[in-house]
Amino acid sequence: MTKLLIGGELVAGDGPALDVEDPARAEVHATVALPSDEQVDAALAAAREAASAWGATPAAERAEMLHEVAARIRARTDELAEIMTREGGKPRIENSDEVGWVVAAFDYYAEMGRNFAGRVIPPIEASQLALVVKEPIGVVACIVPWNYPLLLLAWKLAPALAAGNACVCKPSELTPLSTLALAECFEPLPPGVVNLVPGGGDVGARIVADERVDCVAFTGSVETGKRIAHTCVDRVARINLELGGNDPFIVCSDVAAEIEVAARGGAWAAYLNAGQVCTSAERFYVEHSVYDDFLGAFVEHARSLRVGDPMDDATDMGPMVSEGQRAKVERQLEAAVGAGAEIVSGGDHAGHDRGWFLAPTVVTGAAASTDLLREETFGPVAPIVPVKSLDEAIELANGTRFGLGANVYTRDLRTIFRCMRELKAGTVWFNDPLTDNDAGPFGGFKQSGLGRELGQEGLEAFQETKHVHIESELGPKDWWYPYGGGGAPPHG
Ligand code: NAD
Repeated sequence: MTKLLIGGELVAGDGPALDVEDPARAEVHATVALPSDEQVDAALAAAREAASAWGATPAAERAEMLHEVAARIRARTDELAEIMTREGGKPRIENSDEVGWVVAAFDYYAEMGRNFAGRVIPPIEASQLALVVKEPIGVVACIVPWNYPLLLLAWKLAPALAAGNACVCKPSELTPLSTLALAECFEPLPPGVVNLVPGGGDVGARIVADERVDCVAFTGSVETGKRIAHTCVDRVARINLELGGNDPFIVCSDVAAEIEVAARGGAWAAYLNAGQVCTSAERFYVEHSVYDDFLGAFVEHARSLRVGDPMDDATDMGPMVSEGQRAKVERQLEAAVGAGAEIVSGGDHAGHDRGWFLAPTVVTGAAASTDLLREETFGPVAPIVPVKSLDEAIELANGTRFGLGANVYTRDLRTIFRCMRELKAGTVWFNDPLTDNDAGPFGGFKQSGLGRELGQEGLEAFQETKHVHIESELGPKDWWYPYGGGGAPPHG
């Protein structure tokens, strides 16, 4: 299970050992042998070698193989969900759901890949045919974080493979096990088309810098994304970056009658996966007239959530992924409190002495200048801020360097149209937070990213574009030399 996949072979890593922790118990529960430099090199070489033949394989054949990959993953849902729960701490129920979305991504792109290879455009003259041809890019590196280890991999790998690319994939050092457990699911593919090498930032950096990699698809922090972009720009390698977020959640006064629904939706958006979702709701802007009711309902609901063993299907929220991640969020909370904020609920470890638990936390009075409102808080923290008007809510919502997602609760059609136009975010959800759609492009404005995953855009991210211009009449053009009007001699 903890073998690497290189060139179609399952091999033991020759590099240093990596301990993988169970964050609910704060103890090591598995060890993975990482790849040596030579093995990373072998993975890159295998992908390079496999790329041409895979790119030339008829799309319908690729589709059949990708459906088979999807079926194998589906058949291992329980096993994969359990591995993800142990290494990441997300409740098993959410991990089973994640595997379902992974399967859907492979099935979706299997069909998308055999349905699209470009388009025909109007030519310059009637005797011509003009085509936009989509080709594979070559070798794609897929580098992913720990919060949705398989889903964020699938959103890169499935379209990259469907488009005819070979891939080298690197999971996060915190969650390598579930990715390595996928290896056997890729047996239907030719050797070298998918390679799985675990490791930390050093392994990621080696892959990104390698000349054999034509495109890097990355999900992770803004800082790492910028580093990767710098490396890639040197050789003009393609990049697709899905980075951090600081998503606003606006509650309008017209939902007074359904304020409890808005509060429950908000709590789910803030606390899903212990707030470790790139599109977590991170800042609540609530119109004055419904603020007290919203806050009351939100706090009551937050206090009712069951925080505990993620393997228990009655658990709503598990631990955070690591001690470091929890400490970072606690520092942000402390700084906000130091600047005048009040923790009205949570802020503690929810009664757990062991494991990286942090209770669902509600904060009021946070200053707009604190990191809690300006930067990403990757934890279960909901700062709730009253606003005078929708104008103020939109201004505050757009006032950060991020633009990944945004949520709005309203029944008013004019408000929906206005927010749809004015919110600077890659996804705007109305009255249904955080619902993804394989057919809907996902990605960020501003520093939240570059490019899109999912949908048609998610396939084209892994395709090179070629314009082909075909003239059927072999004769001279009247715009050629000489310009003096003497006419050009016919060719041939
Ligand atoms: P991270 O940037 O620390 O690491 C992400 C991945 O990059 C890991 O696999 C890591 O080993 C690798 N890496 C680190 N340094 C590297 C380097 N120099 N070169 C190549 N690879 C390198 O992020 P993280 O802490 O694992 O994940 C949390 C972050 O991910 C949050 O900021 C979150 O918002 C973001 N995220 C974004 C999305 C999205 O779709 N926009 C989704 C989930 C998470």
